[in-house]
Amino acid sequence: PGGSTEQDPLVRRLTVLSGPSGVGKSTVVAEIRLAHPQVWLSVSVTTRSPRPGEINGVQYHFVDDAGFDRLVAEGELLEWAEFAGNRYGTPRRPVQERLERGEPVLLEIDLQGARQVRETMPGAQLVFLAPPSWEELVRRLTGRGTEPPAVIERRLAAARVELAAEKEFDVTLVNHDVKGVCRELLALMAVRP
Ligand code: 5GP
Repeated sequence: PGGSTEQDPLVRRLTVLSGPSGVGKSTVVAEIRLAHPQVWLSVSVTTRSPRPGEINGVQYHFVDDAGFDRLVAEGELLEWAEFAGNRYGTPRRPVQERLERGEPVLLEIDLQGARQVRETMPGAQLVFLAPPSWEELVRRLTGRGTEPPAVIERRLAAARVELAAEKEFDVTLVNHDVKGVCRELLALMAVRP
């Protein structure tokens, strides 16, 4: 209701990058931010605390629970999901503005969010980022070193479920190397590298 339809040509400029936690989505996004600043990236809102080096307004807008509740109540989020005990959401307006101007938009969101976008904006392009192997994914999730073991366990459990979702996506990119994935992603978005 109120969402865009499949016929909406604007939604074709919307690309969603998703995949299991730890597969390297945020590394891909960081590389795009660095090497391809012409690509606009949606900045999500989250209730989780900033990690070392994260800057409010760059990687995320960090808000408290009440602030998140307010955004949900006011319909300001395009989609949102709870992940590993925190909430994450995509601010609707900046995305809509860019799509209305015909500009490409990239969302890096979890699987639940990708499913919501599929429902409300069926014309969006859904890209699944896959790990080279399960062993590699476990290594990456364990090796981040910034989270307590209980959090890593939760993320592994979620990742196992999320891997099975590949079939729901339009395209799969295997994360062998970050620069290669970026190149493929930009090509899918029809953005000049
Ligand atoms: P992290 O806490 O590691 O930055 O992110 C955890 C998960 O939340 C990742 O899978 C990431 O893709 C997802 N995520 C980040 N922003 C959003 C968002 O706006 N919406 C949804 N649904 N998931 C998000």
